[in-house]
Amino acid sequence: MNSPRTTRIIVIGAGVSGIATAITLQRAGFHKVTVLEKGSDVGGVWHWNHYPGLTCDVPSTLYQFGFAPKPDWSRIFAPGPEIQRYLADVVDEYGLRPWIRLNSEVVSAEFDGRTWQVRTGDGAEFEAEFVIAATGVLHHPFTPPIEGLDTFAGDVVHTARWDDDLVTDGRRIAVIGTGSTGVQVVSALQPKAARLAHFVRTPQWVIWAPMWLPQPKLLGAVLQRLPRANRALYQAGLQASRLFTDVVTRPSWRRKAVQAYARLSLRTQILDPALRTELTPDYQPLCKRQVLSGTYYRAVKARNAELVTAPIERVTANAVVTADGREHEVDVIVLATGFRPHDYMRPINLRGRDGLSIDDAWAKGPHAYRMTAIPGFPNLFTVLGPNSPTGSIPLHDAAEVTARYIVGWLERYRAGEFDIVEVTEAATARFNAEVASALGPTVWNTGCNSWYFTEEGFIDLLPFDRATMLTMLSGQEDGDFVLTGA
Ligand code: NAP
Repeated sequence: MNSPRTTRIIVIGAGVSGIATAITLQRAGFHKVTVLEKGSDVGGVWHWNHYPGLTCDVPSTLYQFGFAPKPDWSRIFAPGPEIQRYLADVVDEYGLRPWIRLNSEVVSAEFDGRTWQVRTGDGAEFEAEFVIAATGVLHHPFTPPIEGLDTFAGDVVHTARWDDDLVTDGRRIAVIGTGSTGVQVVSALQPKAARLAHFVRTPQWVIWAPMWLPQPKLLGAVLQRLPRANRALYQAGLQASRLFTDVVTRPSWRRKAVQAYARLSLRTQILDPALRTELTPDYQPLCKRQVLSGTYYRAVKARNAELVTAPIERVTANAVVTADGREHEVDVIVLATGFRPHDYMRPINLRGRDGLSIDDAWAKGPHAYRMTAIPGFPNLFTVLGPNSPTGSIPLHDAAEVTARYIVGWLERYRAGEFDIVEVTEAATARFNAEVASALGPTVWNTGCNSWYFTEEGFIDLLPFDRATMLTMLSGQEDGDFVLTGA
């Protein structure tokens, strides 16, 4: 019997999906793995984001790896720094550090017909049989092209690149944007601001949730001593999360119940009719990525706060000017304006078979086979790539399931079954047609604008439940791929 082939693998990114991938590879006995990470530490979004109020609005029990459930989260909804620490701890616990090269931004990855040639910004070069892109979704901050923003004499900061030295207490603050981030940062900054103006272009439904609830210490201590119970709790959470998928993927009484709760959250907390009108969206709850907060409505009602719904016209040296002619004088502008989520892997100069660039391959928008394989890009996979279930299924779980699927291919390569694997256009088109059809009855398709939409107008999410995802990624269907060599 032949000895297993050496398999060199480059993983791009050491965030949630990169860590899940590296550990899945490690557990399958792959040891020639290099993880190239652009940031100065692991953690992905949890490394880059450290704005005031950063909390995860997904319960911690579900926002963790199935292979490393943490028994003792401080809160039911963990704060950002604790999640970042958890990710770093997992990396240490699994001894991954020697694989990870920090401050290493991949600038090009080119397939030469046999192997991938990968280059980082500092000029280092790597060769590998496989590349796995775990480059994240909410990675590139979006700065809106507001006239005069660059002439503002005070401080301008994007939430995803927060300056920890920035003083906000006692100052006049403008927060632009009302997604999950804007709502969290407004709640955190309002109490100590001199004044806070929240610029809301499109109001969001904000579901009331007690984000501050501690996880009982006793529970943490018990789960620490009983690892099996800890894993069982995680599994129970995964099973329970199926109910949430149904809420978003098709009309159901559960969707109606959650939507009614969203409306109730607004009605019971905002009693002033004029303010309530301003805060009432003209689309269904859950259509955009649902915002959860137990403090936002209180913050915007405070005496030092103002909701500004008139469109922003321009920024001057000391003010944000709105279309109604008002000049809102401020000292600090906080851009909670989100990301360019569909720029997967870009601006890497990614070139597949015969020099095909990812920009050309995706001229009509990002698309992949089952979220992970791209025609024209042999021996390359993505984790949390196009259509990843960022809106319905726990993220870590989706990353782990995808990583296991990829490892299935790599094991076959290692066993010498093929040299090159590439998904076909036909299989990818078929998968995308299935996705397009299933997106019809989703709540994301009920008439709102959101970051889920690509520029081409497609909803970049997975409209299936977890069971379907598991089936979809349970084994390789050779008929959907071209296998060459060996
Ligand atoms: P986002 O949801 O994309 O929101 C961006 C906001 O900026 C929107 O309110 C948008 O208004 C506004 N905006 C953009 N350009 C503008 C302009 N020129 N003038 C005025 N307003 C403008 O971004 P995000 O809040 O950073 O959240 C992104 C995602 O990150 C979330 O949906 C969630 O998935 C994730 N996240 C998660 C957590 C968590 O707790 N788990 C926390 C934060 C973020 P329009 O709606 O009108 O476009």
